[in-house]
Amino acid sequence: MRYGILSDIHGNLEALDAVLEALADERIDRYLCLGDMVGYGASPNACLDRVIGLTTDVIAGNHDHAAIGKLDIASFNQFAAEAARWTMRQLTPEGRRYLAELPYTRRLGDLYAVHASPANPEDWTYLTSLWLADEAFDAMPRGFALCVLGHTHVPGIFEKRTTQDRSRQVPAATLGLESECRYIVNVGSVGQPRDGDPRAAYCVFDTGERRLEITRVSYDVETAQHKIRAAGLPDVLAERLAYGK
Ligand code: ZN
Repeated sequence: MRYGILSDIHGNLEALDAVLEALADERIDRYLCLGDMVGYGASPNACLDRVIGLTTDVIAGNHDHAAIGKLDIASFNQFAAEAARWTMRQLTPEGRRYLAELPYTRRLGDLYAVHASPANPEDWTYLTSLWLADEAFDAMPRGFALCVLGHTHVPGIFEKRTTQDRSRQVPAATLGLESECRYIVNVGSVGQPRDGDPRAAYCVFDTGERRLEITRVSYDVETAQHKIRAAGLPDVLAERLAYGK
């Protein structure tokens, strides 16, 4: 089984279409979407339609909940809040219903999917340190070798050996899964990367080969920026796409 795994599309249709085009050559059997389909970008409904047509293996992100009033935007910065309010006005009733019904986690074989962290998935913790990774490994349900998530928009791999107390970060974009290790993989963001690389990120996991790869693909950033500005969304949301910040 080959999984195509996407996260944090954030209403960026140009980035999503570039990723789907790249994945069309990857012999994907099943797609998995880790939430935050909307928020920030100018094409929330079109992105939702793409995801709905692609897979039913979808979980909720914090921006999906903010856009339907299920999460208080008081915790959002000014630009995220403005984008959430704009997105709320754009969503169709069907889109709103769809987002409201998404689960927080999914289990597919020994693959566990969550948007932010297995430690309290509903709290939207940013998994940004080894300490938090240790906590996340402890919270990962028994029997799962791999957890995939997004939320920080920074791709990365955490590994925990069964013989060791602490996890470590693996400085690579490709991973061969070892049977004596468990892994937490942040697949990065399709629509708003924040690791200094403006290219859209996605992940392919081959369960037969026990091999996983995080890949980047260029997309039409200018069109995505133009749509954000034309929609009257904050200019900084267009600008940051050029820098991957
Ligand atoms: Zn996000």
